[in-house]
Amino acid sequence: MPPALLNTDTKLHPVHQESGIPEFDVFIAGSGPIGATFARLLVNAGHNVIMTEIGDQDTRVPAAHKKNEIEYQKDIDRFVKVIQGALSTVSIPTSSTVVPTLDPSAWVANDPKQMIITNGRNTFQAEHNNLGAEAVTRGVGGMSTHWTCATPEFLKGIERPKIFPDSEAKDDEEWKLLYQAARTLIGTSEHEFDHSIRHNVVLKALQEAYPDRGVKALPLACHRIAEGSPYVQWHSAENVFEDMFTDPNKKNADGMKRGFFRLLTNTRCTRFALEANTHPYKIGAAEVKDLLLDRLFPDPSLTPNFYIRAKVYITAAGAVATPQILAKSGFGGNRGSDGIIPNLGTHITEQPMTFCQIVLRQNLVDDIAKNLPQKPDWWRKAVEHHIAAHGKTDPLPIPFHDPEPQVTIPASKDFPWHTQIHRDAFSYGEVGPRVDSRVVVDLRFFAMQPGVRKNRIVFEDDISDAYGMPQPTFEYTPSREAALAATRMMNDMTDVANKLGGYLPDSNPQFMTPGLALHLGGTVRAGHGSELDESVANYNSQVWHFSNLYVGGNGVIPTPFGANPTLTSICMAMRSAYKIHQDLKAKNLTPALPDKDVITPTPKEWLAWAFNKDDPNFPNHNRTLHRHV
Ligand SMILES: Cc1cc2nc3c(=O)[nH]c(=O)nc-3n(C[C@H](O)[C@H](O)[C@H](O)COP(=O)(O)OP(=O)(O)OC[C@H]3O[C@@H](n4cnc5c(N)ncnc54)[C@H](O)[C@@H]3O)c2cc1C
Repeated sequence: MPPALLNTDTKLHPVHQESGIPEFDVFIAGSGPIGATFARLLVNAGHNVIMTEIGDQDTRVPAAHKKNEIEYQKDIDRFVKVIQGALSTVSIPTSSTVVPTLDPSAWVANDPKQMIITNGRNTFQAEHNNLGAEAVTRGVGGMSTHWTCATPEFLKGIERPKIFPDSEAKDDEEWKLLYQAARTLIGTSEHEFDHSIRHNVVLKALQEAYPDRGVKALPLACHRIAEGSPYVQWHSAENVFEDMFTDPNKKNADGMKRGFFRLLTNTRCTRFALEANTHPYKIGAAEVKDLLLDRLFPDPSLTPNFYIRAKVYITAAGAVATPQILAKSGFGGNRGSDGIIPNLGTHITEQPMTFCQIVLRQNLVDDIAKNLPQKPDWWRKAVEHHIAAHGKTDPLPIPFHDPEPQVTIPASKDFPWHTQIHRDAFSYGEVGPRVDSRVVVDLRFFAMQPGVRKNRIVFEDDISDAYGMPQPTFEYTPSREAALAATRMMNDMTDVANKLGGYLPDSNPQFMTPGLALHLGGTVRAGHGSELDESVANYNSQVWHFSNLYVGGNGVIPTPFGANPTLTSICMAMRSAYKIHQDLKAKNLTPALPDKDVITPTPKEWLAWAFNKDDPNFPNHNRTLHRHV
């Protein structure tokens, strides 16, 4: 498919007229936490930004975490269904039209070898090398409206990409700055579960069993609503947008008014159109489709397709849709010739995942109410109060509202996998009425797979997904080394599980369907000038050979990783936003050229808002508590 070129017949989107801005500074596809990071930093620096989101706003406040609703705070298992509903599987192999148990008089295909191809089934997808559970979430806030909020740092030397490969000190310094700012932006803490009995039981048992493995609280983007409260506020893209929707006139620390910002929902970024004869390549417009106009006013004289024009274009549509938009633009990633982005979708990374649930050991539970005077005050009071109020009917000494455990054994060189030892909701693993949820602990272990060329996501020219974009097909097989590491991880998980309790029936140790971690990486991977033949963008997340095209999200991460990637992707986006800011300020769009690839440290001033509580843009996570309207 040749690259899409600017077409003078396509109308400009009405937002240009409504805003009075003929050309925006920045166009962003996708309203997840990464698109939000780009938007916040650039708008606060005075640039005007237009963002489009293919999905709708389905929370009262844009991009809010749905788990904050009281219904799920009271019963975490109910949230499993919300996650299931939010996930659309990316690629489903075709299936047989023959259903052996169907009434024999019902319709059957003439040729029983024919397959069912509707409902997102992909004729190109093989069973054996699929990421069968890889999914996307369409809606304002993206996947952060349901994520677990685990925000660990990547392990240096294995997971953490090398922005400055020639200087370890410079690289450490850059990551320290980026991680600190990212943690403040998303509001990460390791102390919100300090006053949970179960958390301390699990933490202590594992610290005693594995004194050298750095067992600690899982870093989570959330805050406890008040001391002693059973409720936390989970953070999401809402916290990144913060007051962008409500305070358009806010000024930054330099007294500069924030730039215009508008989010267009139900608006698909279809593709980018190149300005003709530009080398380095220059995007002239983003072609968008107004899905509401298309659905509600199907007037053939009204086309729902528009151009949005901007100086700089960012694709932050998730690890699948980011390369998908570039493939639809005719830049590469399909089965034909290489295209102008030859590595699009190659070298993908995935996380083999193991899971089990245990019921805590008798002695661990019994110890909770023993030697109470030696326990911390809050613990003693909570247990005494619980036993006094419910001791006659409740067989457990654990208060009903005791927060859940949130523990991790961080990845290390000897144990290169990420671990979550906690109680939380995913698209699987609800406890239901089988057993009291207070004594159940979930173990989720995530291994790593380095990116290799043959592991890829391909975008089909001939079939489309449900949203009219090229259908993705996965070709992924774990390498031998990664496969062996996954076995070691399984053994480690069972060892850890045995320290804590016995397996919950039906939740025995198991490998999960590939893709289930939802941490697909490498689809638009970053690289240095010397890695041109395996990368899509440079370490400013700027696509090679383009002067005004940037990518964001987990797809940019080129390294294998087991840890949850969103915090690191926020870091990469904050770096990239600085490069964009510099170009816009200088009115000079400098291209990403491998032979002239100069990567510089992010200046501390760019992220100063994150280090000064008096800065007007210092993140205030408390403002996201909503009252009645
Ligand atoms: C159950 C679950 C648990 C998770 N737990 C964690 C965790 O603990 N820690 C962690 O780090 N990560 C976790 N994740 C993953 C995390 O949510 C993602 O890493 C993160 O949301 C990625 O941010 P993003 O902005 O790059 O992409 P997304 O959040 O996927 O947002 C992309 C947005 O782009 C939109 N879009 C797609 N195509 C188009 C188009 N053509 N035009 C316009 N818009 C488009 C989508 O609708 C979406 O809203 C979890 C996810 C799930 C579902």
